[in-house]
Amino acid sequence: MASDVVTMEKIVALCKRRGFVFPTSEIYGGQGSTYDYGHYGVLLKRNVKEEWWRAMLQDRDDIVALDSAIIQHPRTWEASGHLSNFTDPLVDCRTCGARFRADHLPELECPRKPSKPPGEGPECDLTQARQFNLMFETTVGPVRDSGSVAYLRPETAQGIFVNFKNVLQFSRKRPPFGIAQVGKSFRNEITARNFIFRTREFEQMEMEFFVPPAEAGDWYAFWRRVRFDWYVELGIREGNLRLRDHDPDELSHYSSGTADVEYLFPIGWSELEGIANRGDFDLTQHSEFSGEKLEYFDQATKERYVPHVIEPAAGADRATLAFLVDAYDEEEITEAASGGPGAGAGEQRTVLKLHPRLAPVKAAVLPLVRKDGQPELAREVVAALRGVLQSEYDEGGSIGRRYRRQDEIGTPYCVTVDHQSLEDRTVTVRDRDTLAQERVAIDALPAELAGRLARPWRSPKPPPA
Ligand code: ATP
Repeated sequence: MASDVVTMEKIVALCKRRGFVFPTSEIYGGQGSTYDYGHYGVLLKRNVKEEWWRAMLQDRDDIVALDSAIIQHPRTWEASGHLSNFTDPLVDCRTCGARFRADHLPELECPRKPSKPPGEGPECDLTQARQFNLMFETTVGPVRDSGSVAYLRPETAQGIFVNFKNVLQFSRKRPPFGIAQVGKSFRNEITARNFIFRTREFEQMEMEFFVPPAEAGDWYAFWRRVRFDWYVELGIREGNLRLRDHDPDELSHYSSGTADVEYLFPIGWSELEGIANRGDFDLTQHSEFSGEKLEYFDQATKERYVPHVIEPAAGADRATLAFLVDAYDEEEITEAASGGPGAGAGEQRTVLKLHPRLAPVKAAVLPLVRKDGQPELAREVVAALRGVLQSEYDEGGSIGRRYRRQDEIGTPYCVTVDHQSLEDRTVTVRDRDTLAQERVAIDALPAELAGRLARPWRSPKPPPA
């Protein structure tokens, strides 16, 4: 278990209190394991996805973007194997009517006797396990007959494979090259729980990297390393991350190697992202089912081959949760660090020490008092920051309370307008992590903050034990 103060309950409470994430349809009593993102949650998850796109597209020139449909031709899922194999074993309890993943029983609670796993309570009466397909079914078109059955995609990857030929033709790429996609996926998870770790509707960030077969091993090693480093660069402490190779009996029959990037969540080590060496399985299957040749002809060598695929598959919501967990901290504010009277010396603060690039709001502009022209000047500062970074104006409550509020949403810089600002057009910039305050000229502020945001950042939290 993680050794610091963070627990899943604290993360859930903070997310609710500060409007990051709420249970969906709450006024109707909620809907199991489905969540809605509020303002700060949207900004945070958007930054996670932006960083992923940046790593895939902006920092490289061998990957192109794609946005395929959620409801695809149902043959897609026959070819991919999802229709027959994308199942979890399910058991029902005849006594209480609850359903459980048969392979998760030891970690679960019996609803009637929570100290015991299902099946071990005095009244438990479990059925035999049966396979349950996780795909959500729907119908397309006005007639509800079997011909119109379709599925909400359970992963974004297949949309990439079925577009391989289109992309190859129009992107003027040759292997090794990748196709990246971010979008919603849907799985009718049986025991969805643990907040946004496992939900029925979630966003994936997947990239399929098509390579000459002989290069697959090297590219697999490359993407394992690069994807691990992505989390470290974005501030996750390395001691909370590990790469775990799948045992041979965990591997899909077509995979010659799969590794998970795992994070030490409060629920224990769990998968954040999978990196798989998928061979030519996907393109071969779709060729067979569609009758289209999905291969590459190398003009130089006159060689024709089906590229092999290396797939890093990540979850945007799960990554967001990991960033929140790793950033969460509670600490006491010292007199020196409080920034003056009323600014909270001796108080406990909850703070999200997020990488500044991930923080939902980069700068909060706060007039010290709500008079003497300070709000007007603060509005001017907000206007100067518009177009440069996400900022927010806040004049409600004592300065200490406003700092606390910004700490809880992880705002790296609080910009305070005080009486001196009106005299010399300078403001104080308070650093979330060090609590150091520095005076900066308003004219220089946008460039100063943009410069600070561009610097590399490491978590100031101590390394995990
Ligand atoms: P798990 O073993 O946790 O069910 P998986 O191995 O089935 O995950 P993949 O199919 O490899 O997951 O999907 C890639 C990524 O998508 C996962 O690493 C995870 O980050 C994310 N993901 C998968 N299922 C869910 C879900 N139900 N809720 C949130 N994120 C998910």
